[in-house]
Amino acid sequence: SPRVVVVGGGHAGTTLAALLRQGGHRGEIIMFGDEVDFPYHRPPLSKKFVDGELEQWLRPAPFYTEQRIDVRLGERVSSIDRADRRVHASSPCPYDVLVLATGARPRDLPVPGVTVGGVVSLRTLEDARALRKHLTADRRVVIIGGGYIGLEVAAAARANGVEVTIVEREQRVLARVASEELSAILASYHRERGTTIITGAQVRRLTSRDGQVRAVVLDDGTAIPCDVVVVGVGAVPRDELAVAAGLDCDQGIVVDGSARTSDSAVFAIGDVTRRPVPGVDGLMRLESIPSATEQARQVSAAILGAEAPAPEVPWFWSDQFDLKLKIAGVVVPGCHVVRRGEPASGRFALLHHDDAGAVTAVETANAPGEFMAAKKLLRSGHAHSHL
Ligand code: FAD
Repeated sequence: SPRVVVVGGGHAGTTLAALLRQGGHRGEIIMFGDEVDFPYHRPPLSKKFVDGELEQWLRPAPFYTEQRIDVRLGERVSSIDRADRRVHASSPCPYDVLVLATGARPRDLPVPGVTVGGVVSLRTLEDARALRKHLTADRRVVIIGGGYIGLEVAAAARANGVEVTIVEREQRVLARVASEELSAILASYHRERGTTIITGAQVRRLTSRDGQVRAVVLDDGTAIPCDVVVVGVGAVPRDELAVAAGLDCDQGIVVDGSARTSDSAVFAIGDVTRRPVPGVDGLMRLESIPSATEQARQVSAAILGAEAPAPEVPWFWSDQFDLKLKIAGVVVPGCHVVRRGEPASGRFALLHHDDAGAVTAVETANAPGEFMAAKKLLRSGHAHSHL
């Protein structure tokens, strides 16, 4: 039974380790994680940070010893030696199979003044703990970036009475990931609940006093006074180990449909990968729990010699106020969108289809039945599953 070394103790790495034991893997499993906390769920960090439970562990602590998963918390892997099949952390660690599950990190905002107090980004439990301390009801927060994380933070903060402004560079929120229809619906939903949204606005600099952020200054000179700034301008894959080791990378570790890299002894899973997606030409980076889980299943099957799992339709979820959003498929510009339900009621579905009538994506709020039905249409791979 091969010795499996996993780099990264996030959702992907932890799921893989658990699946291997569940599938009867007897060999050693060593998992390096450079965070000090036991592996935890990231989605609550942008949804529950004001009044909910932040520390939602992926597995209870005794699980790792019981399952003989050697978790090395607080240990960063600094390099990979593919010729000798070992990684270097505080000491060298040999592998038969290596799995890179290093995730992503928040993209930096390259403007003057971002390194002062009160400016946070959100990826780790540490980040969320810090944000929680900053966000009390008398505070004013500016969120730079109207992506899913930005909108979730906005909703949670607003629900707690915080004054919220979202600054988005594009002409609409969620410009890269949602249909124009969904962007518009969500923008109204947030505005109706007291959030200010400024689109088409570039941040020029942040001003501070006594080392604490005081205002966000836009390109047109507008200064938005604030006590806290959340930078949510996307994430970049942590592929530097792989790049240094000469693995095929292209803003993310390039993998095939079994999560294998250009070295057959090395797999990569989760946010760090650039992967094939059913129904899409070329490779994509997906940043979602379902994608991390799917790739963990692919690798576990490959290591155990089991049948490869069938490819899945990509999907993810987001919670904003009382809206439980679920999105499946890939949103492409210029597709046709058919709406069912009334957005103001908080329950609706947006079905996307191409010129031939094939369903390409679905965006739903509080409509789990519609979501499942549309996801099935997507999964059937029918080029002509007419609405
Ligand atoms: P990660 O969870 O980032 O884990 C990677 C781990 O590897 C990290 O702990 C990192 O510190 C460690 N690491 C990196 N390099 C090294 C090294 N050299 N040595 C040792 N350790 C290393 N997805 C959804 O589907 N739905 C949601 O609602 C949702 N909400 C989210 C909210 C927030 C605030 C965030 C940040 C993400 C959210 N996501 C959501 C995305 C989801 O959390 C990610 O897709 C998922 O965590 C990816 O798992 P991963 O294991 O690939 O990466």
